[in-house]
Amino acid sequence: MHQARAQVQSVRVVSSTWARDSHDLFDFEATDLHRKIFTALKPAVCVRTGTDVQMVSEHVPVNNMYDPLLRLAQKDGAFWVDRAPPSSGSKKLWLVVRDMPSGAHHLQEGDVIKLGRFKFRVRQLVGSGEAQPELKLDDSSSVCRVNPGGETELAQTLCRICLLEGPGEGDPLISPCLCKGSIEYVHLGCLRHWIRGRLNLSDSTGGSYFFRPLPCELCKAVYPTYVQNDAEPQPMPLVEVPWTKPPFIVLENMVRDSQQHACRGLHVISLAEKVLKLGRGHESDVRIADVSISRCHAMIRFQHGHFQLEDNNSKFGTLVAMKKPRLLEPGQGVSIQMGRTVLSLSAQTDVESLEAPTPIRHGPSGGAADERQLRLALLNRFSGARPDGWTTEHPGDAAQLPGEADE
Ligand SMILES: [Zn+2]
Ligand SMILES: [Zn+2]
Repeated sequence: MHQARAQVQSVRVVSSTWARDSHDLFDFEATDLHRKIFTALKPAVCVRTGTDVQMVSEHVPVNNMYDPLLRLAQKDGAFWVDRAPPSSGSKKLWLVVRDMPSGAHHLQEGDVIKLGRFKFRVRQLVGSGEAQPELKLDDSSSVCRVNPGGETELAQTLCRICLLEGPGEGDPLISPCLCKGSIEYVHLGCLRHWIRGRLNLSDSTGGSYFFRPLPCELCKAVYPTYVQNDAEPQPMPLVEVPWTKPPFIVLENMVRDSQQHACRGLHVISLAEKVLKLGRGHESDVRIADVSISRCHAMIRFQHGHFQLEDNNSKFGTLVAMKKPRLLEPGQGVSIQMGRTVLSLSAQTDVESLEAPTPIRHGPSGGAADERQLRLALLNRFSGARPDGWTTEHPGDAAQLPGEADE
């Protein structure tokens, strides 16, 4: 490893920028991309103005005319990629899944993935065992206490759904929202029956479902996730969900305020008998009806003990948020998207790479497949590695940049 690092002499950077500026998207099928090739011999910052990408010295102050894209740092003879300074104001870095070794990303809990303009957070990955989905969204993890007024006090109290008085056998009255007065209480069983009808949790294979916090239709307060009966040690889920067969994944819809039509919630999907499909098509397990999503956009499969995310040649790509600075290792190119620009970077060990870049064609080409081939060819031209010789990505690649915290 140290030997390999010592040999790195430069980084080849291929920048591709989509002519349009739309929702921070990059069109992987576009043929009118603005492309440039750079060879970086020392630390640099990648900036963009309009569709023009430039590499500047990291000591040159970046003015407001430029969008900072990415920082190429150098430590102990190795090159690293990191967010451009100031990291708070610069664009997020997204790893392009289709350009990863073997075309797949090993998912980990906490990963944020992006399809078109939709984001999901990987909340839970369970390969085997007895674990069940944790149905907790940040703002809806409240617990409702059973019979807060006491059994006898509620004997004359009406359930707002069935209009019967008092708690039933094993069916307490609860006060689940902000409603007060004659509609404050409801039987747990009556509320569960109503929620079951709204969430449509039945008839799924392997116990897959979409869980979303439901609000009270009157006061709009979100119903609690769990109900705590003082007689029982553990709170029980308010919603009776099916048993989910492992391996399964829990994906959270990351809904922005502007996406009122979209629904915040958790996709619980069992991969026991199938490959998970995400897309716009009806056959998708996670269906997203949006123009930025391809019919079959991406897939997640459980293989060799890992949850693997794959892109299905989607128009606007499948991306994974880069959480930490990333080491550039020779023979392992990486493509990173920042808004409408994709930068493909590869560490070069060969002196040939120091020669002037080969001019490459601009303008119309033969479509998405050619586009990808071109990008990969440029990545590998001087590194001596072939795509089929790449090893799979491992988390250690994204270790902390040495000495970074001291700066
Ligand atoms: Zn009732
Ligand atoms: Zn209410």
